[in-house]
Amino acid sequence: MESEKIRDINDYNALYGYKDFKVYQLDDEMLSAVHDIYDLDIPEFNGITIPYIRKRAFFKKTINFFASKLSFHDVGFMSDKMLKRLINKNEISSIDQLVELYNSSGAMVSPYKIPIEFTRTKAFSGTLETQLVLLDDHEQFIELLSKLNIYFNEIFLPKKTTNVSVGCYAHELIHLQLLSQKGIVESLYDSEVFSIFFELLCAYENHDVYLYVLVLRINMLFSSINNMFLYQTDQKDKIEASRYELYEFCMSGKYLLSTLKAFSLLDKYLNGSYSTKRSILLRMQSVIDGEQKMSEFLEHYDVGYETIKDSSITDRLLRL
Ligand SMILES: [Zn+2]
Repeated sequence: MESEKIRDINDYNALYGYKDFKVYQLDDEMLSAVHDIYDLDIPEFNGITIPYIRKRAFFKKTINFFASKLSFHDVGFMSDKMLKRLINKNEISSIDQLVELYNSSGAMVSPYKIPIEFTRTKAFSGTLETQLVLLDDHEQFIELLSKLNIYFNEIFLPKKTTNVSVGCYAHELIHLQLLSQKGIVESLYDSEVFSIFFELLCAYENHDVYLYVLVLRINMLFSSINNMFLYQTDQKDKIEASRYELYEFCMSGKYLLSTLKAFSLLDKYLNGSYSTKRSILLRMQSVIDGEQKMSEFLEHYDVGYETIKDSSITDRLLRL
């Protein structure tokens, strides 16, 4: 997940550089594809307790997990204090001046140096906060967002550190890598693919939590499609949805499509040979390095709208 300060889809796209945006609507094919997943034999995990691990072990596990897979580039950081200083010290008279000041005031740091607050109550999700200058004028705000560098402020993770939250951290670290390069991921609907892929792969390597995390993601898939279905049905009676409702609808679409794409990619990876695994990781690295766009990567592995609707992918993942 990303910044909680933004609640408008156009602002969101402007900030992260997602282009050619079109609202994705559910169709019958997608509904029936998710229905097929619903009919699979999905285990339940009611009342299960995941053992706590110490913070030191938590960090070590995350670093070890990525060490053999990807190398990370530094990312932009701006604390609340840095932003306050920038605003208080300067007389700002135009958007361009604000952009120039802002873009030259962040620091480049290792992604592992972005501060973490262990506060989230949900045991299975994190959030990322991007530093922003808020403006009242909406037109100006959109213009500003499209020009700002991405500086992260903080990562919020579950209060209890476990093998599940190692995956949450892995998820957010991948967002840091991709979001800091506007335009690398061209579509909002592909923006969670790598994050969910690594979250699940991380769980797979910490074997005791793999099925648990996979089922969480499947359940989130069901709630995304439910939200979308309700919204779409509701729209027939409404002239115009509120900005916030539309934003939520698009976010559900993002999780729906990204999760299915991540499942397809994970299936290829886990059932692939050693050399397939290496080449997937190498290509991911080239996306992270800005040498290849996300759409080219997904096309190369045939992770498109048609292939992701095959419920046998999820079935295979459940049997691993
Ligand atoms: Zn995410």
